[in-house]
Amino acid sequence: MELSDRAKSIPPSITLAISAKVKELKAAGKKIIAFGAGEPDFDTPAKICDAAIAAMLSGSTHYMPSSGTPQAREAIADKLRTQNNIDCTQANISINAGAKMSINLALMSILDAGKNQEVVVPTPAWVSYKPMIELAGGTMVEVPTKVETHFKCTPEEIESAITPNTKAIMLNTPSNPCGTMYTPEELRAIATMMERHPEIYILSDEIYERLIYSDIEHLSLGSIPEIAHQVITVNGLSKAYAMTGWRIGYVCAPEPIVKAMNTLQSQINTSITSFCYAAIPVALGMNDEVESMRKIFAKRAALMFELIQKWPNVECAQPTGAFYTFPKISHYFGKTSPAGTELSDAVNFTKALLEETSVAVVPGTDFGGCGPDHIRLSFACSEDQITEGVTKIGDWLAKF
Ligand code: PMP
Repeated sequence: MELSDRAKSIPPSITLAISAKVKELKAAGKKIIAFGAGEPDFDTPAKICDAAIAAMLSGSTHYMPSSGTPQAREAIADKLRTQNNIDCTQANISINAGAKMSINLALMSILDAGKNQEVVVPTPAWVSYKPMIELAGGTMVEVPTKVETHFKCTPEEIESAITPNTKAIMLNTPSNPCGTMYTPEELRAIATMMERHPEIYILSDEIYERLIYSDIEHLSLGSIPEIAHQVITVNGLSKAYAMTGWRIGYVCAPEPIVKAMNTLQSQINTSITSFCYAAIPVALGMNDEVESMRKIFAKRAALMFELIQKWPNVECAQPTGAFYTFPKISHYFGKTSPAGTELSDAVNFTKALLEETSVAVVPGTDFGGCGPDHIRLSFACSEDQITEGVTKIGDWLAKF
């Protein structure tokens, strides 16, 4: 029996092989310090859980309209108006099962298969962008960036990747996996360039906007009036509110896109889980809890960066947002590890590191661009783990 070309075209993630190895070592009783987490290590604040439990107990357990409840959409529109300066109403909001689903539905709403449509993405970028673009029928065109410029690209670099086939550009700031973010000036310059391309969509993934650790302010591209009609803002509750398992993401976009996304959603999974809608206004109203989690992440970011700077022959950009650092370790390719493994790339670097020090990181290979020269460490873990694990890696590197 044959599988579809679509199913066969999606490669399994390399990081899964590392996760499997971590599980195997843990099952064998080994203590592993893992820096792989792509989610906050905090529990969802209780008030948010209470709102969902109350909704469930009061009977909100039935099918819901695909567009969601007006209260949830209004809470999101209000947040975007007041915190992000985006001029929108609840008619511009589509609520989906995680920002991942939001991006999938947005891409399915703007891309056609078989028309050579391209989506320009600065890389390294989140591993799911490429498969999501390809599943929607498009091709990802990379704009490679480098550690020296904090993984940011210029408007000129983006513009030189634009062709008559370009349907959209995708930007993610703050970035997974790079842990860096664009300044408002840099984003305004990109917006000015995009004014010359009014038919090209700008998918702005702002899922990490509340997790920032420097004096750089987050600017939403959708707040710039000259390009607002082109912008699809993606966000969600997973990262800022420690709600990854809830699967709540949303998009703010021109109404035709929102309608298309809701129609697609109605045929794919109807809506998000009924009683989760009630949690949305409660979460979005919680600034103190978000700020206290941000402060903890900020301390961890500083600690991890300080310790990585002690690693010999490694370059690392200071983490200014999200919860990742993305050090360049390619100096060690072609060398032999302390226990005698020949290293040739980030994957066998990561495997040797895990076997010889019991510290797990993610190889940058799947993130594109210069990713294969890097490893990703998440600081969504305790300061003790950061101190012990990052020091162990440094000691290991010093023995090469
Ligand atoms: N965008 C980026 C850049 C991410 O890192 C993630 C989660 N890893 C998402 C979107 C999706 O988040 P979720 O589906 O949990 O809302």
